[in-house]
Amino acid sequence: MQELTEGQIRSSFVNCGTADATRMFVPSGLAFAPWAELDYFGWGDPNTPGRYSLVYWREDSPAGIVLRRADRVASRIQVHLCSFCHTPQPANDVALFVAPLAGEAGQNGSTVGTYICSELTCSAHVRLQPHAAPIQPYPSTVMRAYRARLLERVDRFVADIERVR
Ligand SMILES: [Zn+2]
Repeated sequence: MQELTEGQIRSSFVNCGTADATRMFVPSGLAFAPWAELDYFGWGDPNTPGRYSLVYWREDSPAGIVLRRADRVASRIQVHLCSFCHTPQPANDVALFVAPLAGEAGQNGSTVGTYICSELTCSAHVRLQPHAAPIQPYPSTVMRAYRARLLERVDRFVADIERVR
């Protein structure tokens, strides 16, 4: 993905107020982040367990969301599917994330949730998936398709947060 600056990140959020976006933890050293290896930029706040943020390029402008990761619940299901990258993961590596809706609805406590890779590592997973096979001879083409679909699903989730569909 194209590099993001701290200013772009802080002004990208669709579901938190300007004051919160100004105060929020944003990792330092953004210029050295592995942008080429990422489809979205996601991080956790080391000072507030469970608080996560995610920013991606929606066409030409950055769009960001704040998320809260629910506590892990013991599950008998061994494998979960991340709703963004669609990679099957051990149950512990996928978690329920809840995002406040945009605007007044979110301020009043309305949220939307989905299961995502617990450390927001979808970009790494879609890059691991492709294998060369007789019917899929070009792993790079397959990977491009996985990456495109990952961003489509992120985009749909953000649309749910903004309630624009
Ligand atoms: Zn994922």
